Formats: sequence, C-alpha cells, structure tokens
Amino acid sequence: MDEHALLRQIPQIDALLRQPALSALPPAVAGPLARRVTEELRAGIRAGEIQAVPALEDLCQEILAQAERPRLREVINGTGVPLHTNLGRACLSEAAAQAALDAARRYANLEYDLTAGGRGRRHDRVEALLRTLTGAESALVVNNNAAAVLLALTALGGGGEVVVSRGELVEIGGSFRIPEIVAQCGCRLREVGATNKTRLRDYQSAIGPDTRAFLKVHTSNYRIVGFQESVPVPSLAELARRHRLPVIQDLGSGCLLDLTPFGIRGEPTVGACVRAGADLVTFSGDKLLGGPQAGLLVGAGKWVEPLKRHPLARALRVDKLTLAALEATLEAYLDPARAVEEIPVLRMLTASRECLRARGEALLALLEGLPAALVSTEEPAGGGSLPGQMFPGTALALSPVSLTAEELERRLRTGERPILGRVRQGRYLLHLRALWDEDFPVIAQALREVLA
Ligand SMILES: *Cc1c(COP(=O)(O)O)cnc(C)c1O
Repeated sequence: MDEHALLRQIPQIDALLRQPALSALPPAVAGPLARRVTEELRAGIRAGEIQAVPALEDLCQEILAQAERPRLREVINGTGVPLHTNLGRACLSEAAAQAALDAARRYANLEYDLTAGGRGRRHDRVEALLRTLTGAESALVVNNNAAAVLLALTALGGGGEVVVSRGELVEIGGSFRIPEIVAQCGCRLREVGATNKTRLRDYQSAIGPDTRAFLKVHTSNYRIVGFQESVPVPSLAELARRHRLPVIQDLGSGCLLDLTPFGIRGEPTVGACVRAGADLVTFSGDKLLGGPQAGLLVGAGKWVEPLKRHPLARALRVDKLTLAALEATLEAYLDPARAVEEIPVLRMLTASRECLRARGEALLALLEGLPAALVSTEEPAGGGSLPGQMFPGTALALSPVSLTAEELERRLRTGERPILGRVRQGRYLLHLRALWDEDFPVIAQALREVLA
C-alpha cells in the first residue's frame, strides 16, 4: 500500500477517544496521548518504517500503556556520553544518592546547629568542603551554574559595565547566552578583542569609571583553533587588582581533580583557577564534578561573602536533597582515588578501552546467536565538558537482518525500559561507557524480543 493510502487509514482522534477501552482515562490524559500515538504513526509511515496501520484496539492498548508509564523514567544510556544533558547529566554515587534519600525521608539539621542548640547555617558543611578542596577562602552553593553567574553579575556588576572577550561570548544549551545573561543582570556588556584574539591591552583600554568586573568564560562546548590568543587569568588578575576590580571566571564544568594522569586534558581544576588569581570561580555540580545539579561559587571572601547576603541568593538557594547529595559527593573527593572509583562520571570517563572491551565481552556473552560484535569507537564527554576531546571506547554493534538499524533503534527506545543507542552506517551501536552492568540482562532480553 502506498504512503498516502496508509496515512488515510489512521483513525481520527475523536474516533479513538470514543473507544470504550479508553473510557477510564480522563479526557485531559487520553486526548494528548491519542494525538501523540497517531503522530508517531504518521511519522513512522512517512519514514517507511511502518507498513500497516494497527487495529483500533491495538492503538487503544498503546494509549493505555503510555498512560501507565510514569513520565520521568529510567533509561539505559548506550550513547557513550556520560554527561548527556538530555538524560540528566551525572548519575550520583551510591553515597550521594543514599544521602539524598535519607534527607528526603527524615528531618535533618539543615539549619540547626546541634552543638549550640539553635539556628545554624544550611551551607556550613558543604562550604567548608569546597574551601578545603579548592583552597578558596570562601564558598557558596546555589541552584545551578547559570544561577551562580546570575548572582555574581547582579551583585558585583549591577548598574555598571562587565568586560568580556569576544572569543568568550558563549551559548550553552540554547538558553544560557553570556550577552543576554549580562543584560538580565542589569549590567552593560563591554566586548573586547576579536573572536580569535584578545590581548591584555584590550581589557586595559576598556577600563573606565563604570567598569565593575572582568568576566572570563570557559569555552565549554567549542574551541577556537588556529591563530588564537586569550589572556591568562594571572595577567588579568594583576590588571584587575590594580583597579580594584574582581575577575569572575565562569568555569562551566569545574573539575576538582587533575585528570591528566588519565589522559584527560583541557579542563583546568577549580583550585588551579583560584591559585591563578580568579576572585570568583563559578561551576556546575552535575558536570565533571559528578554530583547533583547545583551552582558552586568559590573565591575571595571579599567578593563571595556579599553574595550570601544578596536577596537573589535566597531565591536561588538549593534544597536539602541537593545539599545532602553534594556533601556526600564532595566528601569522596577528599581521597582522590576513592573519588575516581565511587563517582560514576569519573569512573566512566577514566575507563580505558581495554576495560570497556572486557565489559563488552560480558555483554556479548549474553547475546549468543544474535548478529552482534564489538567495535572500537570514539566518544565525547558531553554536558559542556572537554570540547573536542574524544575518548577511545567500545561499542556493541548490531547488524540486524530482519529490520533496519533505524527500526531497531526506535523499538528499543520506545520499549518498556527505554534503551538509547546510535545508528551509524547502517549498524546499531550501544556504547559501553555509560552502561551499567545491571543493564546487561535487560539489554539482552530487549534485543532477543525485538530481533526474534
Ligand atoms: C554548563 C555551563 C553553564 C551553565 O551551567 P548549569 O549548571 O547548566 O546552569 C554556564 N557556563 C558555562 C561556561 C557552562 O559550561
């Protein structure tokens, strides 16, 4: 049957909603689901993946099944990208997840000083850990790194000019754009230099009576290569100090450990930025750090302490679940070897190809009789971390015969336990790096069902 004839066979939404099988669903639930199921059908037909329109009863069953699924669901990440922003970035360590669970279920000394028997500060412990781990004088935690930048610029730059290099006018994830954030904070953006080159004298000649701060932004998701020049923090900090201005460094990912022994370069550690002279460093809790979503600010007390008293700080504050998970994550960093072992993001990123291949063999052993093999791959870290750096990895490659790789991808993605992989050159790939060993039997069963 041709595409148009098939499309005409798709039932009307109203006809679907009149089916007795759906009568138990509230219309507000059934309507959108019916629309989604028919739209998916239409897309499948147009893509040539669906050759027959299912019977009305089957479509009703599909709608009922979708209504039963909770919206936020566990997915199996076979993309090879550990910090996949669409999949929630970092997975918490066991200790961090347990700490969040404990804080969620019972009372905690969130703002209570147990020694003094009275009101305490909710951030004390986490801030102390951040000071220890970065060498900074002062620290503060807010909701995410975007909030950290918002708070820093509003409090320190408000009403005046913030100087930023043209090479660092970053956009992250579609909605965080440095020029717009600066405007939102009530500051004027003073762009200096050119896209590829900014020199110290560019910053110097931008200084005027309205200058409030220098902002340096880590180019988290792109790199400028070729003829390029930017001003290192120590030189900028020296210039800033002479004019009593702060250097705010939006570090983005914010790594607490030197990962060069694992071959991971390009992300300066937060401690190194503090030592280099940045007055205020902001970074994310759920990127390379591997904790919950949070925005961390560390730096000189002179600049950080006023932020704690700013009205925005209250609006941007984190909840007790986040604080509990963050505290447990940071504690692991007190022993770097333990951090690499316990924190999933670090474990995944530092896993060698040999180690991934060995795990691939274990998965392959569960797939006897299926058209599967292991292949070598290269994969990024994701989540605005380590741009341009590819990690040598391993993937399970499937070359199905009874269906296309695209159809296999769709079926696994829309199954009971969604599995996300990639299609490359007609093959379906499941990268080992961000898979959990517990996922293996689930993957094996799903593959047997789909390829049966
Ligand atoms: C990721 C990133 C942000 C936003 O951080 P969130 O924690 O996602 O709010 C801001 N700036 C830079 C440079 C980033 O890489």
